[in-house]
Amino acid sequence: MYLPQEIIRKKRDGLELTADEINFFIQGVANDSVSEAQIAAFAMTIFFNEMTMSERIALTCAMRDSGMVIDWAHMNFGGPIVDKHSTGGVGDVTSLMLGPMIAACGGFVPMISGRGLGHTGGTLDKLESIPGYNITPTNEVFGQVTKDAGVAIIGQTGDLAPADKRVYATRDITATVDNISLITASILSKKLAAGLESLVMDVKVGSGAFMPTYEASEELAKSIVAVANGAGTKTTAILTDMNQVLASSAGNAVEVKEAVQFLTGEYRNPRLYDVTMALCSEMLVLAKLAEDADKATQMLNEVLDNGKAAQCFGKMVAGLGGPADFVENYDNYLQKAEIIKPVYAPQDGIVSAMDTRAIGMAVVAMGGGRRVSSDSIDYAVGFEQFIRLGQVACAEKPLAVIHARTEAQWQEAAEAIIASMTIGEQAYVETPNVYRQIRAEDLA
Ligand code: URA
Repeated sequence: MYLPQEIIRKKRDGLELTADEINFFIQGVANDSVSEAQIAAFAMTIFFNEMTMSERIALTCAMRDSGMVIDWAHMNFGGPIVDKHSTGGVGDVTSLMLGPMIAACGGFVPMISGRGLGHTGGTLDKLESIPGYNITPTNEVFGQVTKDAGVAIIGQTGDLAPADKRVYATRDITATVDNISLITASILSKKLAAGLESLVMDVKVGSGAFMPTYEASEELAKSIVAVANGAGTKTTAILTDMNQVLASSAGNAVEVKEAVQFLTGEYRNPRLYDVTMALCSEMLVLAKLAEDADKATQMLNEVLDNGKAAQCFGKMVAGLGGPADFVENYDNYLQKAEIIKPVYAPQDGIVSAMDTRAIGMAVVAMGGGRRVSSDSIDYAVGFEQFIRLGQVACAEKPLAVIHARTEAQWQEAAEAIIASMTIGEQAYVETPNVYRQIRAEDLA
C-alpha cells in the first residue's frame, strides 16, 4: 500500500520510482482517488527530475492500461497492424495519404487521431470537412472499415488511456506540458492502447515544431523510440522538417483537397512527397512488408500510380459515412470560402525564413482551428499555393492564396502571412525535408 504524497516526495527528492509505485499513482488518477493537486505536484517533480527510461516505460504502460487496450486478434486482418503518429505541424496532411498507401501495400492501419492542438492542425478536423464522415464510429465499425479498406482514421474514445486525459488536462494548466518524460508517456499511452504491432513517429523539427530546438526534438525522438520498444511495440522515429508549411495548403477542406490530389496524382507537393514516402517506407520495412527502403519506395510508387491508394482512401471515406464518390468529385463536397484571393509580398525577394507557428495561428484566427476546446471549426478557411523557402516572391508568385469569409478576415490573414516571412536578398540556407531516422538499434 502506498500513499500518493509519499510517491511525490520520493521523486521530489531525486529518487527513482518503482513500477509498482507508478502503477499505484496512475490507477489513482484513473479512479479519482488521486487529486488534481497531487497530479500537478507529480508532474512538476518530474519536470524538475526527469524520469529514467525504466520509469518512463512504467508510466507509459500504466497510462496505456488505465483503460481499454484494443486487441484486434478476432478481426483476422491477415496482415500487420501498423500506425504513424506525428508531434504535430502546419499543413501536415501526411496521415490522409499515408494510411491508404500502407493499406494498398498490405498493411492495416487503425489510426486514432487527434484534433488541432495550439498552432498545429488536427487530422480529425480535416476529415470532418468531408460531409457525413463519422469520426466516432462503434468499435465494430472501426474494425470492419480497417479490415475492408485497410485503413480507418477516427477519434479517440473516452475508454482509451483515460489517465492521460486527466494528467494532460492538469499539465495544460500547470506549465508542465513541455517535459520529455511526460510527452513520451502521453503520446505513447494513447497510441499503444490501439493494439499496434509497429509504429513510426514523425518528430517535427523547426519553427512550427512543438519542441523548440533540433536537439530537443532529437531527445524526444530517442525517448519515444526507447520507451515504445521497451513497452513491446517496434517503433522508429523520423525527424522531419517543420521550418515551413509542409503541404502547399494549410487549413481543413484545402488540405483534404490536396490529399486527394496527391493520391490521384493530380498534384504532389515535393516536400510532402518526401516526408510521406520516408514515413511510409519505414512503416513497410518495420512491418516486414518490404525488405528494404528501395523495395518499399517501389511498392509505394506503384500503389500511387495504379490508383490503389486512392481507392483505399475512397473506401475508408464511404465506410465511415462519407460520399461514395468523394475521390472523383471532392470539389462538389468540400466547403468553399467566399473570398479566394492571393496575397503578395510588399517587395520582391527570396523567402529565406517562415515563422510556421505564426502561420498555424493565422489559420486558427480565421476559425480553421480552436482557441478554446468548445469552439467550432470553419472548414472552408485557410491557405493554398503556399510559397516555399528559397522561392522568389514577386508579382507572378504570391506568398499564398487566402480562403477567407470576409474582406476584413482576408486582410488580417494577409498581414499575418506577410509578418511571418523573412523576404529579401539574403541567401536561403536549405534544410533537409528528412533529417534522420532513429531505430531501436541506434540507441544501443
Ligand atoms: N501530444 C500529446 O498527446 N501529449 C503531449 O504531452 C504532447 C503532445
